[in-house]
Formats: sequence, C-alpha cells, structure tokens
Amino acid sequence: MKILVLNAGSSSLKYQLFNMESSEVLAKGTCERIGAGGFITHKRGGEAYTEEVDFPNHGVALEKVLSLLCSKEYGVIASIDEINAVGHRVAHGGEMLKESSIITESVIKYLENIVPINPLHGPPAIAGIKACLELMPAVTQVAVFDTSFYSTVEDSRFVYAIPYEFYEEDKIRRYGFHGTSHRYVSAKLAEVLGKPIEDLKIITCHLGNGSSITAINGGKAMDTSMGFTPQEGVVMGTRSGTIDPTVVTYLMKTKGYSAQEVEDILNKKSGLLGVSGISNDLRNVVDAANQGNKRAELAIQLLINSIKKLIGAYTAEMNGLDALVFTAGIGENQHNIREMVCENMSYLGIEIDKDKNEHFTRGIPFDITKEGAHVATWIIPTDEEYMIAIDTQRLASK
Ligand code: AMP
Repeated sequence: MKILVLNAGSSSLKYQLFNMESSEVLAKGTCERIGAGGFITHKRGGEAYTEEVDFPNHGVALEKVLSLLCSKEYGVIASIDEINAVGHRVAHGGEMLKESSIITESVIKYLENIVPINPLHGPPAIAGIKACLELMPAVTQVAVFDTSFYSTVEDSRFVYAIPYEFYEEDKIRRYGFHGTSHRYVSAKLAEVLGKPIEDLKIITCHLGNGSSITAINGGKAMDTSMGFTPQEGVVMGTRSGTIDPTVVTYLMKTKGYSAQEVEDILNKKSGLLGVSGISNDLRNVVDAANQGNKRAELAIQLLINSIKKLIGAYTAEMNGLDALVFTAGIGENQHNIREMVCENMSYLGIEIDKDKNEHFTRGIPFDITKEGAHVATWIIPTDEEYMIAIDTQRLASK
C-alpha cells in the first residue's frame, strides 16, 4: 500500500510518499512560498531536486507534487493511481474530532466551523484537503489531528478557571498540540523497553522551535502543556510560554498596543529570541551564552526551569514516573539541554549517564539512563509523518 502524507502550512506544503509494506519513504519534499512566488524541493533516496515554480495556491502546489512523483526523471510511481490513500496532518480537531477520521463533507464542515479557534492552521489544512479531493476524488483521504491524542484528558485538567460559559459557548479550553508526536514517541518507548504501555507512566518532552510536554499514564494522555493555542507551556523559540495573562491587558493599556500587536509580541518576538535578543534557534543562543552573553544564558535558564517545573508537576499528577523521553530538534540533538533538564532531579528518580548523553547516536531510540536510576530516560526521534501514514493505512483498509 502506498500512502501520501500531506502537511499544509500557511505558505508551505510538505509531503512524504510511504511504501507501507517496507515502511520506506519513497520520496518527500516541500513546496514553499505558496501565494508569494514559490519553489519545490523534492528528494528521492539521496538525490535532491529543486525548481522555482509559481504557486498561487495549495492546489497548484499539489499538482506539481503529483507530477514530480509520477515523472520519469524524478518520480517513484508510474501514475497517481498507485497512491492508495492520503493522510493529512490537521493541527486542530476541536472537541468533536477525537480520533483520526476519514474525510467526509461533514468533517470538512466541522473544520470550517472551528476556524475561529484555529485561525492560523485551519485554513491551509482545509485548502490542502480540498485540493486533494479535487485532484484525486476516488482516493480515501484521512485527517490526523494533533489534538486528538488529548481526548483522554479529564475536564479538571482542560477547563480554565474562568467563567464556565466561555468553555460552554466559546469552547475556550486546553486542547493540547503535537499529539501525534507524543503518541508516536511514547508507543516507540514502550516498544524499546519491551513493556506494555498500559503499565507505564511516561513524560514526553517535544522540544523544538515549538515545544510541549505531555504526561502519559497507562498509554493515555493525562495532561499537556500547550493549551487553547500552542502559546501556553514551556519557553519556546519565539513564544513566551505561560505568563501572567494580565501582562497582555497591561501592555494594551499602557502602550496602546492592539490585541493583534500583543499577540505578535507573545507569539513571534518572545521566548528565546525575545529574552536573548539573538535568535530563536537554540544553537545560536547556546553559542552566545558560551561567549559570556548574559541574556543568552538567562534565556536558556528560563527554558530549562520551565521544563523542569512541568516534569515535577506531571510526576506529581501521575503519582510517579517510569520514563522520560526527549524528542524533536532540541530534544534529539542538544545534549547540554538534556543534561541541564535532568540535573538535580534524582529525588524524582531521574539520573542520566552523562557520557552516554553526550556521545549518543542520532536517529535511533537511545537510552541515556544512568545505571541504577529509577526512571528510564531515552532520546526517541519523532516521526509524525509515519504515524499519520499508519493511521491512514488502518482507516483506508477498513
Ligand atoms: P524543530 O522545530 O523540531 O525543527 O527544532 C528546532 C530547534 O532544534 C532549534 O532551536 C535548533 O537549535 C534545534 N536543532 C535542530 N537540529 C539541531 C542539530 N542538528 N543540532 C543542534 N540543535 C538542533
């Protein structure tokens, strides 16, 4: 079975074509600058091909993807008829779409209805789905939601303590994001530990440009750091993470900022970038800190503290911890951050082997637990696209 996985962003379209029998990625790539010029990067095996193409919308970008996948020179299939199903990454499934779903008219209608609570990611995802339905009307399409992993979170952990009608009428609540990544790495962890996930209390740290931490108790998400939007939780590349909400109104009242301006400050100009004044990329901030830049040092310390606090909170919520997982760009690559997070956590049973942590092998699940520690600590590379392909295969085979 061949499955095309699509991830449509506001000006991009990422794709991967999987052969499910061999779990192999046949080809993958990205269309960028959709709506403002455009170019495509297409990879097959070790070869990469790039071309400037005008992409006025996601539909034209998808046409280009399909023609490259089928082309004599760069293709991997003879015709699009070989694609058995398409899996779409959809960030937000709202309260109703609690699991990956075959796309129907009513699913699209619901996604359109919840655009007000998902204004950034909703419209491009819907555009990608509609483009696909038009170009491949006979192929099963599946939507896989970042939020659906959190359908097991109880209301005492997702309702905000504001007037209840804001939840009932406006659907303001914690939703949680990156669910597909947390689901994938927690399942992988159980597999490498050789234990049933039902017996494990796990904290997964997805640390990238956007970061979130999730408590998974017996295979079910119990709590997570991102909230109504991906803004809440730990310090991120350009996002503040959790702050006192009164900061927002204070800035509006004293500086005359509009709601949009404050949102841009907290979403695009805060976090590592805002505090260090250097970059949203942690590599640059670490380099600056190593050269003695105090604000860079502070930004890193704020990040570490925000992660540690959540690990402590989630261990308390689960009444214990069996395993801690690091994943995504920072979690998988930055051994110094993992070391700082795990420092002075022996009370909770978290102790890592500093040598293993520093000399880890990239790209595979890697155990960095210190001998004798109560909590297993692992680096697990995330693979959201593969998880989407697995769900798509399951639903399309029914
Ligand atoms: P992501 O959003 O998952 O792509 O992660 C982006 C973050 O991961 C950035 O802050 C980078 O500093 C960090 N990162 C990504 N790749 C590497 C790498 N090879 N080495 C060190 N840091 C990396």
